[in-house]
Amino acid sequence: MELKEVREGASRFFVPEAERIYDAPVFYNPVMAINRDISVLAVDVLKPSRVLDALSATGVRGLRYLLETPAGEVWMNDIKEEAFRLILRNVELNGGKIVKSSNERVVFDISGKKAIVSKGDANRLMAEKFRYFDFIDLDPFGAPVEFLDTALRAVKRRGFLGVTATDTGVLCGAYRNACLRKYLAVPIRGELCHEAGLRILIGLVARYAAKYDLGVKVLLAYYRDHYFRVFLGLKSGARKADESLSNIGYLWQDKSGKFWYSREFLPSESNAYGPLWLGELKDDDFMNSLLKKSQEVVLASNKTLEFIRLLSDELDVPFHYDTHAIARRHGLEVRKLAVIMEKLEKMGYRVTRTHFSPTSIKTDAPFDAVLDALRGL
Ligand code: SAM
Repeated sequence: MELKEVREGASRFFVPEAERIYDAPVFYNPVMAINRDISVLAVDVLKPSRVLDALSATGVRGLRYLLETPAGEVWMNDIKEEAFRLILRNVELNGGKIVKSSNERVVFDISGKKAIVSKGDANRLMAEKFRYFDFIDLDPFGAPVEFLDTALRAVKRRGFLGVTATDTGVLCGAYRNACLRKYLAVPIRGELCHEAGLRILIGLVARYAAKYDLGVKVLLAYYRDHYFRVFLGLKSGARKADESLSNIGYLWQDKSGKFWYSREFLPSESNAYGPLWLGELKDDDFMNSLLKKSQEVVLASNKTLEFIRLLSDELDVPFHYDTHAIARRHGLEVRKLAVIMEKLEKMGYRVTRTHFSPTSIKTDAPFDAVLDALRGL
């Protein structure tokens, strides 16, 4: 495999030369630098000591955790022989010195920290390391669902998970049956599909966690560049699990675009979408620390800070109003978002932009008030 050297954050590493990223023998997507920036900031804020990058590819994510956060022990695992070899090379490139080596596991020292590169099925490794890791990162191709159970067992009971899902077509309802099979939930199509997809993903993790008497706290969850990303803190105990299940519920939407939702374990009306998470999508303390850190350190992408600001400012209420979609549904002229927002504020409602869509708003206003604002009333 032809290699080229690239830099991201504090790491240097080799990636395969390839025309298209999906043709490369080992996967590296530079667009995901924002995902990795936010993950590095999260690990920096949460200060886990043992971290697992379970699906590591080039090792970039794990290397960044080692070099840019206080984590003292970082595992980088991949099932592919070529990825394993490349991670070994990349750890050496960043100053790693071999301490112990076998065919499938190599332990390095990097400036007094431990880097463990391992080859094999992530599920096998996580099954072997019961309640060992403080933070587990799942960054697979497509759905993370096949790794959730073992991750919930390999992470400590008060540990953290970072979960990526890139199967947005499934979570957004383009492949409804795949969503039923993988996420045990009915997806919605249309303007609410991304937020609902993100909430289906969180809802699934919360439901999986509950069987281990683990509750979940969402530290940050977002959608961007055709993927979903969730950072969760686990809470130990049956009561905590019950509390997180009380945030599971359903969404409904009619032809006018009006939506409503309800927290309930089983849907009380027909044509429900879900089950999905109706709790918070971010934690204020965590967001403040993330924002503060992101202003102090050098990030790999110049878009990360602006995106974290947008997420921080966003009103955290379930679902949003897409002004273009509502205007289309009601045959109205599209008005400027700023004008609609000002109108709603004058009516006494809280309103912000949302990262889910540039034409949408989050507000505590009811649907009819939003419609009035769109009509210019
Ligand atoms: N986390 C990487 C990053 O930030 O650049 C990208 C990871 S890539 C999307 C997914 C990786 O998972 C691939 O390298 C693939 O070989 C690996 N993989 C797929 N199935 C696996 C399994 N069961 N166990 C371990 N690794 C697996």
